Amino acid sequence: MTRAYSMDVQKTLKHSCRFRGVGLHSGLHATLVLEPAGEHHGIRFVRGDLAGATPVPATIDHVADTRLFTSIACGAWRVDTVEHLLAAFCGCGIDNVEVVVHGPEVPILDGSAWPFVEAFDAVGVAELGAKRRYYRLRTSLSVRRGDSYVTATPSRGSTWACTIQFDHPLIGTRHREVGLESFRDTVARARTFGVVDDVKAMRKRGLARGGSLENALVMGEGGWLNPWMVRYEDEPVRHKLLDMMGDTMLLGARLEARIEAFRPGHALTRSLIRELAAGG
Ligand SMILES: [Zn+2]
Repeated sequence: MTRAYSMDVQKTLKHSCRFRGVGLHSGLHATLVLEPAGEHHGIRFVRGDLAGATPVPATIDHVADTRLFTSIACGAWRVDTVEHLLAAFCGCGIDNVEVVVHGPEVPILDGSAWPFVEAFDAVGVAELGAKRRYYRLRTSLSVRRGDSYVTATPSRGSTWACTIQFDHPLIGTRHREVGLESFRDTVARARTFGVVDDVKAMRKRGLARGGSLENALVMGEGGWLNPWMVRYEDEPVRHKLLDMMGDTMLLGARLEARIEAFRPGHALTRSLIRELAAGG
């Protein structure tokens, strides 16, 4: 089902909504509260469990240097794994929300952005009076790291295109594209995934502690370890698009561009956003 919201004016949630669950990397339980906010507020994060924590905008200036996920940080506090929530704000056209996290990490829930989308539908989306701010490109911009690249090209509307290339034959090389109108049907339900050896390596580094076969697809030698959780035959490339959409929100304005990526990761997409924020 697709909802037609006017994309020209700023939006917020009609009511607050609340989630509770485990963090993918920390393994710690946290409560997440999304509060409606007025025009030009933007998406702001704050730790609700730390006295005196000041809210900060979810923009590239407030991102911690984490490689496998995206974190918002301010001084002594940090909130990890914000990308799927940001992707839900991006895809559902929500501009202004106060995000209060009582814990160090946004709950991973079912590994996708879908629980957020369902909650937004349940509480409703309110249009505000102010026009939305768009960031429009004049020229293309590209960032590279090794074989990987992400390019933003001037375009009417916003589209994301991604090619992944995994050594694992059952993931392999895949390409897919998504626009705002196809967010719900194409990528919102695509879950977090990993290859079993990478997951083991992450665990050794103290990551993926909250990861389980209930919230992430795990690829073993012969196939998915939890095939009952698979929603799409090419779910990994769809999830990468979800991550890209989330990281794009760190610009602090809607990016109207075609964003094309080859073997992207969070750090690479954020490099592009950092360059755009600095004036391209
Ligand atoms: Zn992700």
